[in-house]
Amino acid sequence: MKRQTILITGASHGIGKAIALRFAKEGFSLVLNCKTDITLLENFANELQQTYGVRAVAVAGDVSDHTFVCSLFEKAATLFGGVDVLVNNAGISHIGLLTDLSIEEWNHIIATNLTSVFSCCHEAIPYMVHQKSGCIINISSVWGNVGASCEVAYSASKGGVNSFTKALAKELAPSSIPVNAIACGVIDTRMNGCFDAEERRALEDEIPMGRYGTPEEVADLAWQLATAPTYLTGQILTIDGGWQ
Ligand code: NAP
Repeated sequence: MKRQTILITGASHGIGKAIALRFAKEGFSLVLNCKTDITLLENFANELQQTYGVRAVAVAGDVSDHTFVCSLFEKAATLFGGVDVLVNNAGISHIGLLTDLSIEEWNHIIATNLTSVFSCCHEAIPYMVHQKSGCIINISSVWGNVGASCEVAYSASKGGVNSFTKALAKELAPSSIPVNAIACGVIDTRMNGCFDAEERRALEDEIPMGRYGTPEEVADLAWQLATAPTYLTGQILTIDGGWQ
């Protein structure tokens, strides 16, 4: 039987890395992407291959660049036949007043967090429809549900991901391909490294669970989504310790 293949964008750090580890433990072949540090990603891919006996390939490139995304999926097709599970995880945050945001920064955030999801789905879907199976998971944010002051562009990009998820789920339901999103609260990754110890404590006090979530908890949810009945589709699953 063909091994299942997962493609994860932004897999060199944080949530994407934890998802890669979770699916490697389950025997998946992995196509791992990040934007900058190819050495880091290659070392991680090698570690997964050696520890779990899986095939893993590291591909550096910017997922906001549609041409790069096309080449990423061509590589996945050549190596593994196609992608069975797509995790759109790569993302960036930006904190600041909207009036201080330049048009270039706005375009960069939207292209990285939202247009990349279009590009990856656009390239992943034909194989999935042909196979009559597959699964798409988008990593979103609670700010996509409720909006955050000083994170307007980020909130808009994740709100876009949530609507994209619901719409695409309807489009792909006749092909039995579930499309869901995970809306994360505060997860303990590099993305929140901007907060000092005092700010972190204040944030933890706001969260009913009293702590940040871990990337491993998000990865467990991604695994559960990938193995859930296909009838579960078009959902935005919030994982935030009861925060929002
Ligand atoms: P992270 O630790 O900063 O990791 C982000 C990953 O995305 C890195 O591997 C990074 O690679 C990659 N990436 C960024 N821009 C890219 C691009 N243009 N092309 C390809 N890869 C790119 O962040 P994280 O916290 O794990 O975040 C992962 C996802 O969860 C994001 O979509 C984020 O919005 C979402 N999320 C996180 C939180 C949280 O509290 N951490 C909350 C809600 C939602 P390079 O380092 O090479 O750029």
